[in-house]
Amino acid sequence: MSAACVFCEIVRGTHSASVVWQDDLTMAFIDLRQFHAGHTLVIPRRHLPDVRELDHPTGAALMASVARIARAVAAAFPNQGLSLWHSIGEAADQEVPHLHVHVHPRLLDDRLLRVYPSAPSLPDKSVRDGYAEILRSHLNSHGPQI
Ligand SMILES: [Zn+2]
Repeated sequence: MSAACVFCEIVRGTHSASVVWQDDLTMAFIDLRQFHAGHTLVIPRRHLPDVRELDHPTGAALMASVARIARAVAAAFPNQGLSLWHSIGEAADQEVPHLHVHVHPRLLDDRLLRVYPSAPSLPDKSVRDGYAEILRSHLNSHGPQI
C-alpha cells in the first residue's frame, strides 16, 4: 500500500470507485474517462508501480482478471474490437503510478491509440536478430524474475 496512491485508496475503500470485480489479488473498476462506454481498469491490489515489479502469482492473477474483464466488456458494451494497454513511466504518459491495465472498447475508425506518429522503420533481419541477442543476454544474466 502507498499512502498517496489513489488506486491503493480504492483498494482500501477510502476512495470511491465503480467496482466491477475483485478477488484476493486483483480488482477492476470503471475508468473516469469513458471515450467509449465500458472503459475499465484492472489492477493488482498490492501497490506495484508497473509490470516489471510483478511476481508470478500476482501476474497470473492479473492476466486472468484482464481476460475475464475483456470478455465482459466485449459482451456488454458496443464494440468492434478491444484495446488493452499498460503505460510505464512519464514518456508513456502513466498518470497513476500503480500498475493498471486498460480494457477499452474499440469502434472502427475511432482514431483511439494511434501507436506510431509516423511510419516506423522496418530494419533488416540482422538488426532484429541483434536486438533479440541484446534482450536474450539480459534475460540470461538476470534469470527468471517471476
Ligand atoms: Zn497504489
